Amino acid sequence: MVLQVPGLYGPRQSLPLLVRPLPGESTGSFVNRLAQANGLGLADFLQRVGQGMGSSSTDPARVEKYPQCTEMYVNGPGLEYLAVLAGTPAAVLQRALPGLATRHRLPGDGDAVWKWPWQPSEGHLVRYCTRCAEARGVREPSWWLMSDSWRVCARHGRWCDDSRTEPLDGLSLKELPEVVDAHLDRARLHKQFGRSGGGAVR
Ligand SMILES: [Zn+2]
Repeated sequence: MVLQVPGLYGPRQSLPLLVRPLPGESTGSFVNRLAQANGLGLADFLQRVGQGMGSSSTDPARVEKYPQCTEMYVNGPGLEYLAVLAGTPAAVLQRALPGLATRHRLPGDGDAVWKWPWQPSEGHLVRYCTRCAEARGVREPSWWLMSDSWRVCARHGRWCDDSRTEPLDGLSLKELPEVVDAHLDRARLHKQFGRSGGGAVR
């Protein structure tokens, strides 16, 4: 599928196998899944997105090993390249992936560049609830980019956080229904009063 021609040297076609971004997923998590689905190492994939910036970005093998620690950022042309490779319009990627928000955009609109710092510049990488991911057909490990370092999935009764040790698929809250209740109260307050409401029950 040819979506657009973002530049003379950029990718012109999507990769053969496409994956859908999960809502709230980190860009690094999505890109890892897309590369893996196509049998590409991360380094091979990133070469197609543009030029890497920064010291960790020069070591994609290490980044590939620790997707739970790193997040990927792109400039405007980098986003366009990524959209072509992903076979998904940039606006759709931006709606799903918070790390692609305009405020995280790297400067420059000449060459496509990407950066893969060891820590997200803002927020936390929280392991995606495996059942939420599976419900959307994703079985690989994936991560949310969140403002908090944890998230309660009330639907599946899982506590998911940014710990980097096993088990990574979240703790069951079956025996701790009060945690789920507190989370739902907090979410209600948040809805009613904005973020300041969240602090009231912390
Ligand atoms: Zn869930």
